[in-house]
Amino acid sequence: MRYLGVIGHPLKRSLSPFFQQAAIDQLGLDIVYEAWPTTEEGLAARVKGLRAPAVLGANVTIPHKEAALALVDEVDDLARKVGALNTIANREGLLRAYNTDVAGFLRALRDDAGFDPAGRRAVIAGAGGAARAVVVALCQAGATSITVINRTPERAAKLVADLRSVAEHTVLDALSAGGAAWAAAVSGCDLLVNCTSVGSAGSAEESESPVPVDVIHPGMLVYDLIYRPAETPLLAAARGRGAQVLGGLPMLIYQGAESFRIWTGREAPAGIMLAAAQKALAEEAGR
Ligand code: NAP
Repeated sequence: MRYLGVIGHPLKRSLSPFFQQAAIDQLGLDIVYEAWPTTEEGLAARVKGLRAPAVLGANVTIPHKEAALALVDEVDDLARKVGALNTIANREGLLRAYNTDVAGFLRALRDDAGFDPAGRRAVIAGAGGAARAVVVALCQAGATSITVINRTPERAAKLVADLRSVAEHTVLDALSAGGAAWAAAVSGCDLLVNCTSVGSAGSAEESESPVPVDVIHPGMLVYDLIYRPAETPLLAAARGRGAQVLGGLPMLIYQGAESFRIWTGREAPAGIMLAAAQKALAEEAGR
């Protein structure tokens, strides 16, 4: 028996154990995927424990994606660029870090929305860890320009400064949040990505949109990384205004599928994983 798990805090609502175990079972592998709730104080010991021969690796989620980088032996190029990991693989006692959010984000954009970012203009709401992965992904995919708008402007400015070297062929800038900034940035864009937690079910801002919705125009794609609920207030308004919409569940599944491939060397059954996640979400909604 081998072990995988997700490291984070709190972990009560993580979908990863459901959809990763479904993939493992589908392929008949002798692996158990567990939830490993871990506080800041316990992180170093938890990561050290991943070196055990029976452990294949782990996913790492909020709030440890940045801190865990200092605890591994090797960091993959993408994880280094983003400045955060979400996957650790145990290679005979040596821990290697990856960031599969980048690949997950792009696969959902291309496969589920049919959107190729090459030559397109994007606006990003938010400047946290997810926004960093999205900016790296869009730069790699050849976006022409990316404008980052965040509640705390200093954080957006730091993201832009940190990722400037990744944006070789992309104009990357930051604007302070405000009606005029949103209108100016979104009016000329092809893609708006919500990388804030505004609109998440169960949060104080669950009925809010991170962006004034009257700036959304028909023909653009609005992509919300939130997957609880499936349709956030932002997506509902965008749909109503004639924009194309994409929620965060496909990205969650594809980042997990890429982690699965890294740990097992096997292609992950993404359809099985999606069905397991949707079942878990439906059961949660029925409780
Ligand atoms: P994070 O590092 O904590 O960043 C949170 C972001 O949300 C920051 O930009 C923050 O702005 C902004 N924010 C929070 N409350 C706000 C409010 N009331 N008004 C305006 N802005 C607010 O979190 P993260 O890891 O980047 O994750 C962000 C979201 O993406 C979460 O909802 C997460 O679930 C989702 N996500 C989804 C996937 C997926 O696979 N679908 C993957 C990763 C993340 P300040 O800087 O001003 O605080």
